[in-house]
Amino acid sequence: MSIPAIRSAMTTLWALCAFCAFVALFCWAEYSNWGTQVTRVEASLEQTAEAIAQHADDVVEMSRLPLASLISEIHDRAGGDDLPARIKAVMMGQLKASPTLDTLSYINAGGEMVATSSDNAPAGMNYADRDYFAFHKTNPLPLPVVGRPIKSRLSQLWVIPISQKVVMPDGSFGGVVISTIRVNHFINFFRNFDVGGDGAFLLVRGDGIVLARAPAEESTFGMNISATELFSRYLKQQSVGAYHYRSPIDMTDRVGGFFQSERTGMVALASSAERQVFLSWVEAARARWIYAGILLAVSLMSALHWRRQTWLRRQSEAMVAAREAEFRLLAESSSDVISRFDENGVREYVSPSSTEILGFTPEQLVGKSVFGGMAEETAVLVKQATERLKLGSTQEKFLTRHVKPSGEEVWLETALSKLPASHAQPATRVVAITRDVSRHKKIQDELDELAHTDELTRLANRRFFNLRFEELMQRAKRVPAALSLLMIDADRFKLYNDTYGHAAGDDCLRQIAAVVRDNVRRPGDVAARYGGEELSVLLADTTPEQAAFVAEAIRARVEALDLPHAGNAPMERVTISIGLAGFDPQVSSGMTAQALFAQADEALYRAKSAGRNRTVSAAQPV
Ligand code: GH3
Ligand code: MG
Ligand code: MG
Repeated sequence: MSIPAIRSAMTTLWALCAFCAFVALFCWAEYSNWGTQVTRVEASLEQTAEAIAQHADDVVEMSRLPLASLISEIHDRAGGDDLPARIKAVMMGQLKASPTLDTLSYINAGGEMVATSSDNAPAGMNYADRDYFAFHKTNPLPLPVVGRPIKSRLSQLWVIPISQKVVMPDGSFGGVVISTIRVNHFINFFRNFDVGGDGAFLLVRGDGIVLARAPAEESTFGMNISATELFSRYLKQQSVGAYHYRSPIDMTDRVGGFFQSERTGMVALASSAERQVFLSWVEAARARWIYAGILLAVSLMSALHWRRQTWLRRQSEAMVAAREAEFRLLAESSSDVISRFDENGVREYVSPSSTEILGFTPEQLVGKSVFGGMAEETAVLVKQATERLKLGSTQEKFLTRHVKPSGEEVWLETALSKLPASHAQPATRVVAITRDVSRHKKIQDELDELAHTDELTRLANRRFFNLRFEELMQRAKRVPAALSLLMIDADRFKLYNDTYGHAAGDDCLRQIAAVVRDNVRRPGDVAARYGGEELSVLLADTTPEQAAFVAEAIRARVEALDLPHAGNAPMERVTISIGLAGFDPQVSSGMTAQALFAQADEALYRAKSAGRNRTVSAAQPV
C-alpha cells in the first residue's frame, strides 16, 4: 500500500469517526433532551395531581360545616314536629353558602329520609341498605366520611356522598347526615388542566375506591384499584411522584403523576399517553432534526466533494509523474542532450548526455537559465527561435558553435519543441534536443569547399565566382561601394604547352594562381579560375585606380617568377595580361555584372593586342 493510499485511508477513517461522533453526540443530546422532556412532563403531571387532590380536600372540608350545622340543628330540635321543616331550612341556607354541594339530606336512625334538599325525593324511601348507613351505624367515628360514588336515587346522577354519623346528646345513634357532590363537579374541574390530547385524571379514595375519572367512564366509578402498582408499590414509598404504567381502563401506556393528600388520604392521578408525550416531543424536535440533517448532508456532500477533488488531484499527479518517468526514460537512453525549460528559459531537466556533449553535468545545468554564459550570436538565435514558437511554430532548429570547458569547439544542432500545456502545467514549456554535429559540419564544410574550389589551382571555381560576382555587385549597389574586376590571361600559353608539355603548363598555371592568391588577401575579395588559363579577381570596395595597383603587382610578380617561355617573344618568360574594369555606383548605378565582365574582357583583349604582359583598364582611352 502506497503512502498516499495510507494517508487517504486514514483521512477517510477520520472523517468516518467524525461522522459517527457527530451522530452519536446528536443521538445522546436528543436522548437526554427526551429525558428532560419526560421529567418536565412528570413534574407537570405531579403538580396537576397535587392541585386536584387539594381541590378534593377543599370540597370535603367544605362539607364539614354544613354537616355540623345539620347535626347541631338535629340535636336542638330532636323529637319536635317541626324537625323536618327546620332542618330543611338550615339545608337551604347551607347550600346557598356552599354551591359546590349538590344536596344535603338527613336519614334517621331507622334509615328513613327525614329531610332532603332535593326537590324530587320520593317520600318514605328507606336508606338503611346504603353502605354509609351501615358503616355509621356500627362505627363510632364522628367525622365526615367520603363514600363510594353512587347513582343518586333522587337525581339519577353519579354523586359522591360525604356522610357523618349523628350522635345524639345521650350517646345514641341518631342517624346520618349526608352531603353529596356530583362526580361531574370533579370531571369539570379536571377540564381546567391541559395535559395533552390523551390526558386522563383519576380521583381515588385512600383505600383505592375510584371517586371520579376523566374521561368519564361510569364503570370505573366506585371501582377498587388498591391492587394496582400505584397503591401496592408507589404510594407505599412516597406520597408524590410519577410512574409509567399501562392503564387497565383504556389499555394505554401512560406516564402519570400522583399525589396523596395528608389530610384526607385522597389520591389524585393525572396522566398523559406516552405516545402523545413522544409525539409532542417529536413535533418540537423536528425543526432541530431537520437542521441537523441539513448540516449533516452538507458536511457529507462537502466531504465527498473534497474526497473526489483529492482523488482527481492525485490521479493527475500520478499521471504527471508517470509522464515524467517516461520522459526521463526516453531522455536518458538517448545519446542526444534532452533538456526541458520553463517559460523563462530556466532548465528544469537535462539528460546525462550533457556531460559528453556540452562538457557540463546535468547538475551543473539544471536550475540555470539557458542564456547564462551563452555567446551573443547564439543567444540571438535562441531568442528568435523561442519567439517563433510563441507565435505558433511547433518546432525550431538551429546550428550553434559551443566551446566546452576543455576548450574543444563543437557544433551543435538544437531542435526546440513546444510542450502541450496541461491543466497541471499551463505555461508554455520547451523541450530541446541537442546533438553534436561537429563531424557532419566538417564533412559538409569540406564538401562545400570542394564544390566551389578549382582542383588545379585551389582558387575558387567559375560557379562560385559567378555566385559571388552577383552578390558583390548587388552589395556594391546597395552600400553603395566601388567594385573592380580583373581578368587575367596567360600569354601565348598554347605555345607554352606545345613547348614544355601539358603537365608543365599545369604547373605553370599553379604558380601563376599562387601569385594571384598572395595578392588577393582581403576577406571579401574573390580569386577564381574562370576557365582554361584565365583567372579572374573581384576586389570589393576597390576603385579601378586602386585595382590597377593590385593588377600591376600581380603581373610584375608573375614576370618576376622568371619562368622560361621561349615562344613568348620578346619577353621569353611566362607573363600575363590583365583587363581591368570597375563599377562606380556614382557614375553607373544601373550597370550589370555581365556589362562589367564584358568591359574587363574587352580591356584584356586590348592588353593582348597592345603586346601582352600589361594591364589595361577599360577606362583607358583606346
Ligand atoms: P594569347 O596570348 O593570345 O592568350 O595566346 P594563347 O595561346 O594563350 O591563347 P589562348 O589564351 O586562346 O589559348 C589558351 C591555351 O591555354 C589553350 C590551351 O593549350 C591552354 N590551356 C588552357 N587550359 C589549360 C590547362 O588547364 N592546362 C594547360 N597546361 N594548358 C591549358
Ligand atoms: Mg586564354
Ligand atoms: Mg592566353
